[in-house]
Amino acid sequence: MALRFYNTLTQQVQEFVPADGKTVRMYTCGPTVYNFVHIGNLRTFTFQDLLRRWLRASGFALNHVMNITDVEDKIIRSATAAGQTIQEYTKPYEEAFLEDCATLRFEKPERIVRATEHIPEMADLIQKLSDKGMTYTSDGSVYYRISQFKEYGKLSHNDFAGMRAGARVDVDEYDKDDARDFVLWKMKKEGEPSWQTAIGDGRPGWHIECSAMAMKYLGDTLDIHAGGVDLVFPHHENEIAQSEAVTGKPFSRFWLHSEHLIVEGQKMSKSLGNFYTLRDLMALGYQPEIIRYLLTQVPYRNKLNFTMDGLKAAATAIDRLRNYKLRLETDKYPVGANGEIEKRIVQAKLDFIGSMDDDLNTAGALAAVFELIRDTNTAMDVGQFFEDNRASALAFLKTFDSVFDVLEVTAVEGSLSDADIDTLVAERTAAKKAKDFAGADRLRNELLEKGIVLEDTKEGVRWKRK
Ligand code: AMP
Ligand code: ZN
Repeated sequence: MALRFYNTLTQQVQEFVPADGKTVRMYTCGPTVYNFVHIGNLRTFTFQDLLRRWLRASGFALNHVMNITDVEDKIIRSATAAGQTIQEYTKPYEEAFLEDCATLRFEKPERIVRATEHIPEMADLIQKLSDKGMTYTSDGSVYYRISQFKEYGKLSHNDFAGMRAGARVDVDEYDKDDARDFVLWKMKKEGEPSWQTAIGDGRPGWHIECSAMAMKYLGDTLDIHAGGVDLVFPHHENEIAQSEAVTGKPFSRFWLHSEHLIVEGQKMSKSLGNFYTLRDLMALGYQPEIIRYLLTQVPYRNKLNFTMDGLKAAATAIDRLRNYKLRLETDKYPVGANGEIEKRIVQAKLDFIGSMDDDLNTAGALAAVFELIRDTNTAMDVGQFFEDNRASALAFLKTFDSVFDVLEVTAVEGSLSDADIDTLVAERTAAKKAKDFAGADRLRNELLEKGIVLEDTKEGVRWKRK
């Protein structure tokens, strides 16, 4: 079965192919850089990384744009309180975000774009909306008149027939489910940053930013627009209203939304204060790949309940995967191939691909991996796994890891590389052969101090990181 996604717009699972059959034009809403992102935010970005990787695994090229919201009410408030410009204030948070993305092994979008570098494009779009009679001005600020856009509500599937005509909202924070004319352009205020543009002196609202940047780089109709579920309304609904009123074309063919990461039943959020950052968890000794695993294992449209036990279970799962890989790489097997095992591996691969194609069902994909591990481990224990089965089992693990990317150990500063370890292990083996047992023990201890455990097996020495 072909690749398919649940589309929030149609409320259906639909087969996905990019419009031109080759390159996926995708826009994802990036962070508002007024603070460190927490692992709830990172769940959404992990989903987007998985989405990217699976689209590529499906044979498509990518043109993916992610924005950085670096002008917005909270940013202005915080920068003012800190006595800084918004650039000074946001820079370290943007850097920290990009660092977190690299730590969690996210592929880089083809473009990362800042709102503050696209103000003229936003002004231009607002002008076009005004030319079409979609806006009005009040106290110098420009608002979108949503009663003029007949399809308003089509993404969030809300019926806004009874909305309060003329009720306005000019902040970037909203009450849920309350549709109101939203601000496109805010008139310059004393003490706030502003830009001089063709439509006057002021600053943009939040929603116009994504419409302007998405269409600038990706054209009138995107293949995929994605974000967290809290962005469906009003942010994405407003993006549709802005873009489609100008182009008369669908803004995005597919809309994908990831569910929240929750803590004790509540959404992890900055405002509730119930959050952990990636740095918090790493300081507790959890490697980034453990956190990545935790964030990928629950399919993106299900809520993910964050617990410390969940983190520990993720660490155990990764150990299991790594031990299996080590066994495949270092065990000696009888010559030949077991046809049944080959078939079993082909089946696991089909199950893995089938699950990922099914709206990125990561839980199903992981189950395919672990069932194969169980079955082949059993076969190994009873001598039914053969030398010629090794390559296909390793190839399957590689397919798995090209998407989940958790097998490689994150290098800790001052730690040994694989090649360094191999050299020390070889030296120790040589020392033992030369009956220099003290030397061999010293090398073993040296490795142990650096977190490397040696295991003498009948096939030779194996090592693993603690
Ligand atoms: P923000 O920086 O607040 O604009 O959020 C960046 C992204 O994180 C958006 O796509 C949000 O939908 C998403 N997000 C915020 N909180 C959570 C959460 N607890 N779980 C998953 N995604 C979240
Ligand atoms: Zn956006």
